Parts: sequence; C-alpha cells; structure tokens
Amino acid sequence: MNGPVLIVGAGQAGVQTAEALRAGGFAGPITLLGDEPHAPYHRPPLSKAWLAGEMDAAQLVMRAPEMLARKTIELRTGVKVTAIDRAAKAVTLVDGSTLAYERLVLATGARPRALPLPGADARGVLALRSRDDASAIAARLDLCLAQSRPVVVIGGGFIGLEVAATARKKGLAVTVLEAAPRLLGRVLAPQLSDWYAQLHRSHGAQLLLGAQVAAIEHDAARTVTGVRLGDGSVHPAGLVVVGIGVEPNDELARACGLACERGIVVDACSRTSDPDIVAAGDCTARRAADGSLLRLESVQNATEQGKSAAAALLGQERPFTATPWFWSDQYDRKLQMAGLSSGATHWVLRGDMDGGSFTVWHYRDATLLAADSVNASREHLLARKLLDAGVSPTPEQAQDSGFDLASLLPRA
Ligand code: FAD
Repeated sequence: MNGPVLIVGAGQAGVQTAEALRAGGFAGPITLLGDEPHAPYHRPPLSKAWLAGEMDAAQLVMRAPEMLARKTIELRTGVKVTAIDRAAKAVTLVDGSTLAYERLVLATGARPRALPLPGADARGVLALRSRDDASAIAARLDLCLAQSRPVVVIGGGFIGLEVAATARKKGLAVTVLEAAPRLLGRVLAPQLSDWYAQLHRSHGAQLLLGAQVAAIEHDAARTVTGVRLGDGSVHPAGLVVVGIGVEPNDELARACGLACERGIVVDACSRTSDPDIVAAGDCTARRAADGSLLRLESVQNATEQGKSAAAALLGQERPFTATPWFWSDQYDRKLQMAGLSSGATHWVLRGDMDGGSFTVWHYRDATLLAADSVNASREHLLARKLLDAGVSPTPEQAQDSGFDLASLLPRA
C-alpha cells in the first residue's frame, strides 16, 4: 500500500491511527479530516479539570498541528465528510469537493443522546461532548454562580456525575436526576453505587434516584427555568446538563453500506466489512468470537483500536484483546475500572470503604471478571495484570488485604 490514507475524525482514534501508521513505516500521504475547528484535544478533562478551570488551553491539546506536520500527517480542521463512495474510493466534503483514498479510516466518535422531551431545545439545556460544549457549560455555570441559580444534571452516568462534582466544587447548588434505582447500575457493584451516592450527597449535591423526567420548563424567551418530573414536582435550574449516554456516529458508514449494528461493526483488528476501510474508537462495535458485540467508549479503546487499525492497513494482525480499563474523577476520588463486570454474580471488597481507598472485585462463580478501585491505583494495575493473565484469585484471597495478589502472577 502506498496511500493515500484518509482518516475521518481527528480525535483520539484518528490521531492514534495516523501516528501508528507512520511508526509502522508507512511513507505515503495521510490526511486527518476533522469537523471541529480545533486541533486534536483530550476529551476526558472537559468534564473534570478543564471545566473546573484548573487546566489551560495548551494542556488540553493532544497533538499540535506542528507535531503532526513533523510526521507529515496533514491535518485539516473544520472539514466535515458528508459521503463515502466505496466504488470510486473517494469521500465528499461539506463544500462538495472530493478526495480519493486507497484506504479509509473511520474514527468519527459518538454524539450525546438527545433528550426526547418537551422543552429539551431550550437555551441553557446542554450536553457535553466537545470542547465547544464544555465552554458553553462553563459560561453557563458562571452565570448560575452570579445569579445564585441551581444546576440540574439529568443522568447519573460518569459524565453527569463528573459535571455535578465540578459544579459543587464551584459552590453551585446541584441536583442529579437518575432514572434508575442506583447510580451507574450497569457497571458498578451495588455497594459501590451506594458509596457514590453517599459521596455526592456528602458534598451537598441533591440526588434523586428513580426520577422520571417529564419536561424541561422554560420562560417566554425559551430559556430554561427548571425540570419537571412525572410526579409534577419542578426542580428550578439555570443550567440543565443532559448526560444520558451517546450514539455512535455511524451514519456515513451506514449510508455507504458498511455493516453497522450499534456502531460500525469491526473485528478485533478493527477491520470493517470492506477490506479497504478500517474503523476505530467510539463509532465502532467490536464483534467477538462468540458473535456478540462489544461497544466501549474509552480512551484505551480508541487508542488500541487505532493501533490495530494501522496494523491492519499495513497487512498485519494486531488484535485488541487486552483487558478494558476506564477511569473517572469525582471530587478527590479517582475510580479506576478494569475488566467487564457484566454477568457478575457476587462481589468482594478489599480495603476500607469508609477510609476511601478500596477495590471491589466482581466475580462470576469463581472467575474474576473485573475490579473497580477507588484511590487505589496499585491494586488497579495489579487487577489488570491478573485479568490479562487470566488469573483469578479466590474471593477469599481478593478480600484479604494481607494476601500478596502479585504472587499469583505468572513469572516473566
Ligand atoms: P472522538 O474523540 O469523539 O473523535 C471523533 C472526532 O470525529 C470528533 O472530533 C468528531 O467531531 C469528528 N467527526 C465526526 N464525524 C465527522 C465527519 N463526518 N467528518 C469529519 N469529522 C467528523 N474516556 C476515558 O477512558 N476516561 C475518561 O475519564 C473519560 N472522560 C470523558 C469525559 C468526557 C466529557 C467525554 C466527552 C468523554 C470522556 N471519555 C473518557 C471518553 C473518551 O474521550 C472517548 O472514548 C474518546 O475520545 C473516543 O475517541 P474517538 O476518536 O473514537 O472519538
């Protein structure tokens, strides 16, 4: 392959694929096409340090254009790809022009799921995905602070909870409305959900579980004034942050006939149903050997799938099979998750929940599935190694702080 390689989406996965291609010896043209006006930047701080005003613009940059230029990777920002012609091997840009490719990378990410309720389009109802979204939320937080108006967060997922924690740290009154009976119920063990609920409440946030949001209330100028629940109660708000999950940006892929199901379907090597097209990151759903589909939305997934995609373009097999991991920062607590907890039948605790440093280990029968560590980075790294090696400590060993879990790892 001599190129050209076109990469649609200049985020985590797109940048990783471009750099891995160069590192792998590809010498042909690489063009990164991003529809945002910014050079590639880190998304995780947008709900954490960036929103809190604890980070400057330079720290948010993932790759400066000059750095990409040094690797002869052409970055084009503010350019949206509107169609893919697989027969002609070309993409159409928003200005109607076309660009030819030999190989195409789809790294289009995901977008926030829209709130399907009356009033959801009112001014001051915001979701968080991009740097511009974060700037809009930051400005609105300042306005709420100046006018002593409360913030309501719809959705007690990671992004919603991180925004809630940041808003509380700024001194705003915050209410989190979660439809499910517990926080992060799809991924956390029940005792950790309860612990997070207590963490937010202890910092002064109001948390409503099982909350059914009915409508967004607004004034005559369509500026948000509150959130109405199914029971008729209204939570006043000067800002409503909607964090109810994301949808993969797979429209381009669907329109050109690529296999898509909960995202662009890829194998463990990031290959799509077209041999000339690979895909990586939040826009994908990975088909496992047993036929099931796995959707991950994380920096690690975007990075590893980007590396696999580059390898596939170079004719190599580099399956992404490592243990998935993720992190979340809320107040002064760092949650680090390793593995996939779905299907867990029981949990054991290592450490002290009251002391704030511990790990919850998820088991299905005797098999370790996952481990969630709070302010316990060493245990998190150890859990990843155990899971990568397919080693399950017994639940008794996992909960015994005196037991050396590292002793179970195979010798190098
Ligand atoms: P993105 O980073 O979204 O990049 C895709 C890019 O493609 C975007 O710029 C998009 O605008 C562009 N694009 C889409 N369509 C087109 C088109 N047609 N033409 C041109 N460009 C297009 N993960 C963690 O592991 N830990 C965290 O703590 C964490 N915190 C997060 C906090 C926030 C607020 C958010 C939003 C995400 C967080 N994530 C976190 C998730 C992580 O950031 C994503 O999983 C990761 O960015 C995915 O990378 P990606 O390249 O697939 O998508």
